[in-house]
Amino acid sequence: VLETIRPHCRENHPAIWATLLPRPEADTHKYRRGHVAVFSGGPSATGAARLAARGALRIGAGAVTVLSPAAAMAVNAMHLTAIMLRRVEEAEELAAFQHERVPQAYVFGPAFGVGEKACAFVETLLRPREEVPAASLVLDADGITSFADSRDRLFEAVKASGGDVVLTPHLGEFKRLFPDLAADGRSKLEMAREAARMSGAIVLLKGPDTVIAAPDGETVINANGTPYLATAGSGDVLAGMIAGLLGQGMPAFAAACAAVYLHAEAGRAFGPGLIAEDLPEALPAVLRARF
Ligand code: AMP
Ligand code: MG
Repeated sequence: VLETIRPHCRENHPAIWATLLPRPEADTHKYRRGHVAVFSGGPSATGAARLAARGALRIGAGAVTVLSPAAAMAVNAMHLTAIMLRRVEEAEELAAFQHERVPQAYVFGPAFGVGEKACAFVETLLRPREEVPAASLVLDADGITSFADSRDRLFEAVKASGGDVVLTPHLGEFKRLFPDLAADGRSKLEMAREAARMSGAIVLLKGPDTVIAAPDGETVINANGTPYLATAGSGDVLAGMIAGLLGQGMPAFAAACAAVYLHAEAGRAFGPGLIAEDLPEALPAVLRARF
């Protein structure tokens, strides 16, 4: 398949991104190693944010904050150790946090819930850099689905914001945001590439053969996946890993490619019995051995 696609698409390979992987400087401190903020869902949906948070930490972010609705503060507080916790119930509280703690990257979407509240938070995150310190955004899951009927709103905000945006849909989420692209017989590669062009975001279309496409047309297809990754919460860890690399200042396209590859290597290294919790924990051995 790859032979017929070239030269329009490369296979994901460490040669694309390994030299750009962040490494801590001798005199660094935790905030300089990247501060990532992850939005939590409500009291019965907090696990996804923890998975993303641990993905961000294990890929090297120095500090991670979980942003929680008031009703989920207690359950989040009980389950977080190295991860900070902050109440964010309304867009105003988010705006205050953005200026006060200045994270370099956010994860929005995993188990957040679908609706107008999600759209309002995303628009607050994507305000132009004259209004808010620029930060990267990984928009996943419910964060994508929430814009199914108002995608122009999202695309305008993406284009007006000063930061990088990475959309990480699986095929079902992709079809909700881009039903037109999924309808007329395009390949996954063409779908991702056209979605990136339309949205102004990097589009990472997940699955056995994850495709990563940039708005300028650059496209990479991942080939080291393992079906053991098909387990609940696996995508949440990936979203956190991408944000962890973005938070450390890695260029966005390279960060997306690196996270997909390393996520798959961690899955392979663990093998049978893998659950999402194991992915962040399997990552240090992969990094130690090869990067
Ligand atoms: P999500 O659906 O959001 O939980 O994400 C699932 C993750 O597992 C994504 O990174 C997918 O690329 C990956 N994945 C799912 N199914 C497979 C498969 N059959 N082979 C390889 N990777 C997969
Ligand atoms: Mg998911």
